[in-house]
Amino acid sequence: MNVASMTHTLGLASSDELLSLLLHNVQDYALIILDPTGQIVGWSRGAAQVLGYEAAAVTGVSFTILYTAEDQAAGLPQQELERAMRDGRADDDNWLVRRDGSRLWASGFSTALRDADGILRGFVKIARDATAQRQLEEEHAHLLAQAQAAHATMAEALAMRDQFLSVISHELRTPITTILGQAQLLARRLGRGQGFGEHENRSLGIIAEQAKRLAGMIDFLLDVGRLHSGQFTVRLELLDLEALLRRLIEAMDASSEQHQIVLACPPPPLMVRGDVDRLEQVFQNLLQNAIKYSPAGGRVTVEVTQEETRICVAITDEGIGIPAADQARLFERFYRAYNAKSQQIKGTGIGLYVVSELVNLHGGAITVASTEGQGSTFTVCLPREDSQQSP
Ligand code: ADP
Repeated sequence: MNVASMTHTLGLASSDELLSLLLHNVQDYALIILDPTGQIVGWSRGAAQVLGYEAAAVTGVSFTILYTAEDQAAGLPQQELERAMRDGRADDDNWLVRRDGSRLWASGFSTALRDADGILRGFVKIARDATAQRQLEEEHAHLLAQAQAAHATMAEALAMRDQFLSVISHELRTPITTILGQAQLLARRLGRGQGFGEHENRSLGIIAEQAKRLAGMIDFLLDVGRLHSGQFTVRLELLDLEALLRRLIEAMDASSEQHQIVLACPPPPLMVRGDVDRLEQVFQNLLQNAIKYSPAGGRVTVEVTQEETRICVAITDEGIGIPAADQARLFERFYRAYNAKSQQIKGTGIGLYVVSELVNLHGGAITVASTEGQGSTFTVCLPREDSQQSP
């Protein structure tokens, strides 16, 4: 469009007036005119509104003052002009700095101004304050990331629970299969009119033993539910920790030839207030793990130490150890370390959850220290109870 005819049509005295109207009337958009070196030669009312500088304060000054120190150091303003020169136009969305030092997210573009002969005469930069929109976008992105993380956590929890259900179903099936087999055998023998003899008695014994095992597993699952819902109670009484540990170790030591369990205790008495069945469960589980996760055998050390207010039991094995990245999550329900799974050592990831909940119910604490490939130490500390202070 011809500027002279536009000026005439609008009834303006000159094209100067047209430019002046443009600079004074366009609001909310900053309209900045630069010479070919980037010095500000035109500054609209919108630019004053958006950036806080009056025209007189910036005329003749390099437009780079509008940029953040980081962007100035990175050469961003010059790059924008170079792009505008090369491509005719450069979109630029970036932070600018107002006169009062506050930042705004400016969204707009720069255009090279060339005359009829293609000679660069300057640039025009047009931008609006899109800070609110940008903040909204950032908030959305943040919420989206949060929702995605929550979804991933949920998916992981569900996968761990499914894995647990599949393992526990197999474990429940094993005694049931044995019970069924023995019951069928009994039925066949008795059906043939055979009397009740040694074989039959053995079958009944196996059935009773497997039914007991099944009941134990179901009790354990019920305990897990009660622990999780906070409905579990312990019956605390004064007990001798050393006697409890000796009993357990004797029974377990005999069960594995590859492993040797060694107990190191300070002089008695080692009295704690605890639920004997539940503390047995705690230490049995930790000892079983020490053996299970040392498939190549080795020594398991149970070391008891007395502190002023606590008695601590450290169970150390020479087994596969636990990767550092897994250690913080071991006490979560269903969580299993990477190396336990990759080495196909069977488990449900529920034992340590139960152990830590039981220790907490005793007012104690459990910690783990481990080096992958070298072994692990699980330490249970319980409040100390002086034997003189009888219940
Ligand atoms: P499970 O042994 O049935 O998988 P636990 O809750 O007892 O479940 O243990 C959780 C996880 O902690 C195990 O799967 C294993 O990865 C790791 N773990 C526990 N004890 C040991 C140990 N002594 N050595 C190495 N890893 C262990």
